[in-house]
This record gives sequence, C-alpha cells and structure tokens, in this order.
Amino acid sequence: MFRLSAQEIRDSLTLRWQTALLVAAVCAGAVGLSAAGAALIARGSAVAAADRELETLATTMADRLDHHMFERYREIKNIASFPTLQQIWERDPADIRRKLELVQSSLPEYAWLGFATPDGNVRSATKGMLEGVSVAARPWFINGLKGATVEDVHDAKLLDKLLRSSPEQEPFRFVDVAIPVRLPDGKLAGVLGAHMSWSWAEDVRRTVLSAEQTEAGADVLVLSRSGEVLLGPKDQTLSENNPSDAGGVRIFTQQTPNGGMRTAVVATQGYQDYPGLGWRIAARKPVAVIYVPASRLVWQILALGGLAVLAATVVAWFVAGTVARPLQKLSEQLDPIGRRSGATSVERQHGSKDVLHLSATIRSLLRRVGAAEAEQQSSSSTIAALKLELENQVKVSEEKTMRFGADLHALRILADTDSMTGLLNRRAFLPYAEDALSYYKRYQRQFSILMFDIDHFKRINDTYGHSAGDDVIRAVADLISQEIRNTDKFARFGGEEFVLLLRETDAVIAADLAERLREKVADLRVPTGGRDITLTVSVGCAVADETGRDVEDFIQRADEALYAAKAAGRNRVRSFREDRLQDRSAA
Ligand code: GH3
Ligand code: MG
Ligand code: MG
Repeated sequence: MFRLSAQEIRDSLTLRWQTALLVAAVCAGAVGLSAAGAALIARGSAVAAADRELETLATTMADRLDHHMFERYREIKNIASFPTLQQIWERDPADIRRKLELVQSSLPEYAWLGFATPDGNVRSATKGMLEGVSVAARPWFINGLKGATVEDVHDAKLLDKLLRSSPEQEPFRFVDVAIPVRLPDGKLAGVLGAHMSWSWAEDVRRTVLSAEQTEAGADVLVLSRSGEVLLGPKDQTLSENNPSDAGGVRIFTQQTPNGGMRTAVVATQGYQDYPGLGWRIAARKPVAVIYVPASRLVWQILALGGLAVLAATVVAWFVAGTVARPLQKLSEQLDPIGRRSGATSVERQHGSKDVLHLSATIRSLLRRVGAAEAEQQSSSSTIAALKLELENQVKVSEEKTMRFGADLHALRILADTDSMTGLLNRRAFLPYAEDALSYYKRYQRQFSILMFDIDHFKRINDTYGHSAGDDVIRAVADLISQEIRNTDKFARFGGEEFVLLLRETDAVIAADLAERLREKVADLRVPTGGRDITLTVSVGCAVADETGRDVEDFIQRADEALYAAKAAGRNRVRSFREDRLQDRSAA
C-alpha cells in the first residue's frame, strides 16, 4: 500500500505551499465551526419561535371553540327560560315550531331544534322533522331531563336520513345542547334540544389558520377527551396521550416518518357556565419546515466562508512567496558553490531577521571554507615533495623486509615443528586449538581433542634400545598423520605423547576415530634389526562444550580421560564426561 508520512508530505511541499494550505485549512475549520454553531443557534431560536406560534394557534382555537359553544349554550338556555316564552310550551305545536324555526334561521349551523315532552316524544321541531318520533333513548334527552347538558360530537342518528341529500354526502355530525323546560308553576314541560352541525368547527379552524401557516404545513386538530379525532385527518393520533394539564400547554416533537412534527397541545376549559367538553387542541408544524430558515443561514455562512477561505489562501500564497523568496535566492546561490572549488561568498539576503541571520551565518561559513582551501593549496606542493621522498624510503625498506621475511618464514617453520617427527609442537598447536574454540563459541562449530600415549614405552626402550624407541615414535606419528583430514591438526606434545585436534567433529565421531586409530596402532609392526616391534596406545577424548574456559581446559580433560584409559588397563579409548569417564573399548 502506498502511504506517505506527514514528514514526507511536508518535505515534498515548498514553504509557500505549506503556508497557503495551512491558512486554507485553518480558515475552513473556522468557517465549518461557525456554520455548525450558527446552525445550532438558529435551529434553537427557530424552534422557540415555532413553539410560540403553535401555542398561540392552539390557545386561540381552544378559546374560539369555547366561546362559540358558550354562545349556543346560552342561547338555548335563554329560549328555554325566557318568561315571555314560558307560555308557549303547552300551546299549539305549530307555534313552538315557528319560534324554533325563527331561531334556526338566525344561525344556519342549527341543524335541528326540537321540543320533546317528558315521555320522550318530539312535539315540535324545525321543519316538522322527527315530530311524533320518540327520542327517549337519545343521550341528549336523557341528560336534558336532569339539567342543562352539552353532548360531545357524534354522528347523526335519526336525522341522518332526513338531512341527507345524496348518498355520497359526508355523514352529519352534531354537538347537542339540551335544557329542561319548566312551566311557570315549576312543573317539567319537556326538553328543548338543539343539534348543531359540527361543520362550524371547521370554519373556526379556517379563521384561526392563516394562509401562510397552511402553506407551511401547519395544521390544527381537535381531539375528544378520549382521543378520537373530531376535526382534522381521522387517522391522526398524538404520541402523547395524557390529556394536557388544566390550562397548561404541552409542547413536544411527535416523531413521524418524514422528520417529526412540532406539536402544541392545549385543552378547552369551557367558559362561564358552559362546562366545556375536555377537547384537546393540537397545533402542529413539520420540524423540517421549522428548520428551513436555519439551513438557509448555514448555506449562506458556508458560501461566504468559502469565499473568505479562497481570499485568505490567495493572500497567504503571495505573502508566503515574499517570505520565502530570500531563502530561495540563497539556496540558488549556494547550489553551485558545493560543486566547484574557489567558492567565495553569496549575496547578503534581506526579508526577515531570520533570513538576515542565516545569510550572515552562511557568509561567515563560506569565508572559513575559502581560507581553508587557500591554506590547503599552499601546503599541497610541500606535501607532494614529502610524498615523493617517502615513496623512495618505503621502496628501500620493502626490499629489506622481503629478505627478512624469507628468513623469518624458515625460522618460524623450524620453531613450530617437532624435529623428530615433523609434527606440530605444542607451541604451534595451541593457536589452532584456540581458533577452533572461538569458532565453537561464536558459531557452535563442534571440535574434539584426542590425546594418545604409547603404552609401556619404557619397556620398548629397554628391550630394543633408545633408537628403536625413536623409530616407534616416528612410525606412530606417520600412521596417524595418514589417517586424518587436512583440517585436523596433529602434534607431538613430548616423549611418546600425541594430541589430535578434530574440527567439525562431535563426541561420537571423535570416539569412533579414536577407536579406529587405536586398532591401527595395535596392528602396526615396526621393523628392527631382529623381530618387529608391536605396540599399543591408550586414547583420551574430550569434546567442546559450554563449561570449558579455554583450550587448556579441554587438553586437560583429554589427558584425564587418557589417564583413566591407562588405569583401566591400557590399549583402550576413554571419553571425558563431567561426571564420569566412559569406556569405549572392549579390550
Ligand atoms: P605407560 O605410559 O604405559 O604408563 O608406561 P610408559 O613406560 O610409557 O611410562 P612413561 O611415560 O613414564 O615412560 C616414558 C618413557 O619414554 C620415559 C623416557 O625415557 C622415554 N622417552 C622420552 N622421550 C623419548 C624419546 O624421544 N625417545 C625415546 N626412545 N624414548 C623417550
Ligand atoms: Mg607411555
Ligand atoms: Mg608418557
């Protein structure tokens, strides 16, 4: 994946670009923050304004409904109790009808006015509707017998057929007012009832809602005490079902699929002796509509802010260009100086205190460089003469050294070799062993050390003479030398004692080789003037491990193993172990 670190990005941009981008980023951040803040504040105040508007709407609607109901209630009450009218209730039904029709003509929303006798039969009614029909079971009549009553909005029952002009017409809905009618002597004459067409509420709603409010999606609903929608779309409910506290306004946001409705709910309280029907008036407006001015403001801020960011970036671009120019000039002048000798100086640069200081520093640095170069040039001729002289001297001494070297090499071979056998001596052997040990310590390359000693050599000397003894020593040296690898080092440590260094060899292989060599020596026949000499050797093995401190430790271990082989009867191989010495030979 291709990713740039912040360092890499910064290194790839000029000072000018960096400054311009930084200013752009800071300004954009500030604009974004302002827009977000403005959105919050504007939305808050838009909601507060909408809340006030909705509260006014709901309260006005509630008041209008209450007042209207109060007026009807008072009207019917007056008709029932006017002293001048008290005479008519027992007289001609047609007379009552005329009076009722008079009232109806004054207010078209009176759909029906009628007077029923205490047994529930309609005696007189507007346009003669339902005359002679029993209303004994109708709630308005039952409650009207007991006292002044208002019945909540309901569908027309008996009157529906009579009023309906076509089947498509909306069902009639009424609000009823009913009052007991008493004769001057206090006796109950009957019940005066009025059905008012509920459509008047729609008229009230229209007067309350302005055209702009309707256009903005605002709406007013009337719900009955039980939550039934009396006015407005029938499928509406209020998420908040608790009736509003007496006199209180409840404002909340009702969640809807398209962003919610801000809703103010207020309850009707009744007016004077009109008790009220506990209607709840809900004034609503979509939240999305409420937020529109806030969103517009945010877009305006973003547009203006964008222009400001652009302007600030352009200014920063030019300012940064001016600031960076002296640096650029400085680097342009410095660039060729590193490439050619004889550098003198650069022009003094201005623009800021830092640039001035940098320019002065570089000029002083270049003065020093110039001085050093001059000094170097003057001394280089002297150096050339000295060099020639030195070369001659070296040539002479090299010739001498070569002669010495040849002599030294011969001397070294002499010093490293056992004169009798031609094997390495102890002094020459040790560096090889040390090398093997350091390889072991560094790379874990195994090595082993075997120590040989001719058994009962004194007897051979005694029996065959010292010179024959020397032959035996040489014969053993030759035999073992032939059996080992180039990389193995074989040495005579003195007398009839030999040491063998085996590189890249572990304990098992070393013991096997020791055993093989022991057998070869046992088979050896060293000729003398008379009969051949036979002999045996004892062998001790030691392998490299972590516990040995130096080469001498391992040689000593091989020697201990050898001693054990002797003690066990000679002509055998023993390996050194920390805890015990192991017998490898059957003999
Ligand atoms: P073992 O090792 O089995 O215990 O018995 P050994 O008889 O070999 O015992 P020791 O190591 O004590 O004897 C070694 C003898 O080897 C003593 C010495 O006189 C003789 N010797 C030492 N160097 C030489 C030499 O260069 N040539 C001859 N011919 N004899 C030598
Ligand atoms: Mg011996
Ligand atoms: Mg010996």
